[in-house]
Amino acid sequence: MDSPTINTVLRLLKKEIRRWKIPAVGVVAERAADRPFETLVSTILSLRTKDKVTEAASRRLLERASTPESIAALPAVEIERLIYPVGFYRTKARNLLETCRILTEDFEGKVPRGMEALLKLPGVGRKTANLVLTVGFGDYGICVDTHVHRISNLWGYVKTTMPEETEYALREKLPRRHWKTYNDILVTFGQNLCVPVSPWCSRCPVARYCPRVGLKKSR
Ligand code: SF4
Repeated sequence: MDSPTINTVLRLLKKEIRRWKIPAVGVVAERAADRPFETLVSTILSLRTKDKVTEAASRRLLERASTPESIAALPAVEIERLIYPVGFYRTKARNLLETCRILTEDFEGKVPRGMEALLKLPGVGRKTANLVLTVGFGDYGICVDTHVHRISNLWGYVKTTMPEETEYALREKLPRRHWKTYNDILVTFGQNLCVPVSPWCSRCPVARYCPRVGLKKSR
């Protein structure tokens, strides 16, 4: 897939995804534009967890304590109780506590606005850091999760084996104006139509542009 085609595909999908739900991080972020701490919390909670569960857990926690200082003051068991049943809730509670302690002590209670500093926070990988920068701060970044990695490869737009490689390849290739929306479009598309294992190619609005690289089964 070349650059003119990716423009067309993303334009078509942007229209298409309006009828589907927004991924959990997008939901929280929409309500909390310019509040990067909320984006950070919901992204940490979202790993291996369904969107509905992530959204409810983020809401419970942030209603109880909405700043790094106030979360850092909570006992770990209370955070566990508030975020349960997100996946790995005990580890996530520990990471959140430690992250909030670092933000309080080293960053004056604010989320740092830079990739390097974000990557030092426990439980924060490149995906989370990119999401905080793009959604929370409105900066440039490309958040690559499994859907973004998988679909970019199905389209033949990148040829990579790991999400991190995909991020670097997209930084080279994807026009900057798509950086902020690429994740939301592909995650929503990947959850609803271009699903893993057997995507709904027969109903796909961009099927004629898609070479389906490496795809074994579809519906
Ligand atoms: S044609 Fe199939 S594999 Fe390609 S984008 Fe559409 S659903 Fe995904």
